[in-house]
Amino acid sequence: MSTPTISLDQEINPWEAQNARFDFAARKLNLDEGIWKLLRTPAREIIVHFPVAMDDGRIEIFTGFRVQHNIARGPCKGGIRYSPDVTLDEVRALASWMTWKCAVVNIPFGGAKGGVICNPKAMSKGELERMTRRYTSEIIEFIGPEKDVPAPDVNTNEQTMAWIMDTYSMHMRQTVTSVVTGKPLDVGGSRGRIEATGRGVALVCDESMRYLNMSVNGCRVVIQGFGNVGSNAARLLMERGYKIIGIAEKDGGLFNPNGIDIHQLIEYKYRNESILGFRGAEAMPSEELILSDCEIFIPAATENVITSRNAANVKAKIIVEGANGPTTAVADEILAEKRIFVVPDILANSGGVTASYFEWVQDRQGYFWKEKQVNDQLETIMRDSFDDVIRYAEAHNVNNRIAAYMLAIDRVAFTIRQRGIYA
Ligand code: GLU
Repeated sequence: MSTPTISLDQEINPWEAQNARFDFAARKLNLDEGIWKLLRTPAREIIVHFPVAMDDGRIEIFTGFRVQHNIARGPCKGGIRYSPDVTLDEVRALASWMTWKCAVVNIPFGGAKGGVICNPKAMSKGELERMTRRYTSEIIEFIGPEKDVPAPDVNTNEQTMAWIMDTYSMHMRQTVTSVVTGKPLDVGGSRGRIEATGRGVALVCDESMRYLNMSVNGCRVVIQGFGNVGSNAARLLMERGYKIIGIAEKDGGLFNPNGIDIHQLIEYKYRNESILGFRGAEAMPSEELILSDCEIFIPAATENVITSRNAANVKAKIIVEGANGPTTAVADEILAEKRIFVVPDILANSGGVTASYFEWVQDRQGYFWKEKQVNDQLETIMRDSFDDVIRYAEAHNVNNRIAAYMLAIDRVAFTIRQRGIYA
């Protein structure tokens, strides 16, 4: 194993993590230098500072970002996150990952991401609504169904999307549902969108088991994060016969070697706003759970969960990245040495944006699909994309992550060459 020569700060900077994988894959592809430089740089970075009237009458100033990485294959697509830790580098990385993610699943979008630095847990619903509307109005000329289509991400949800859609529509003087995805059903949302990321995660778990000749029945799974992605993946996996033995959250974790009843846990969390104190499992510190003995570990929360500090102690045989950027580039090497099978984020969590694509198509057609159609088409895309990545990894003798990057970069570069560069 090569000793890391970079500082921990550098290691956990998502933009550095993106660049390290991008450069490696681009070199393997023998990518033309001009296209290399073009794809390494986000096309547009918008920073806005804007006022919001707080409930107590004060005016607070917030900072928001929208980074648009590339539009070669179609309009930009990507979520908006609300968190005190949002940085421009993080949003840049997430925007690039969206370009690669959309290309891996071969849907006609480029990549973007947005974020507002705020603490949504400490804000009232009214404050969140005013902040969302003002942020939308600040970036309004840069978004639109043919330009850039936001979606939910960490700490944003259907309600946030409804506010963005309404604000945009008020300015356009007409209802434009296709400006965002992940909306409530009644305002142009798609059936199956909410659980689509978790469903995609479950589908690639199935594919991994099939590929590695392992049995689903009783297969032990540990999941970090029990938000939208983690809880839906957990439920769908349990229903398929996997045994969810551990759930790790920020404030603590749960362990039950016989399997946790996820339906009960979802209900418990809904009532208590935390998984702590659930009777159907024993308490266990989250850091311990992440390194516990299991077949599949699913990080489904945020970045930098597996780093040079803990990668050597991971005992899972398979890692399926429900979150964006949960593994650092240094940790990648350690996991590869340990022969851990990694399903990388830009494939594993692409079910969300794939269902977003279906939502955008339905909105533009004004014709809405049954849930089965959404789920069936999602399944086809996830299984085909898994196959594409595995075949690429085998053909080029690289790990799954680099294969996914290579496949994606190759597709985007091909389109750029076809369109030609207006330079
Ligand atoms: N925020 C999600 C992601 O990271 C979904 C993006 C979308 O649906 O546009 O993939």
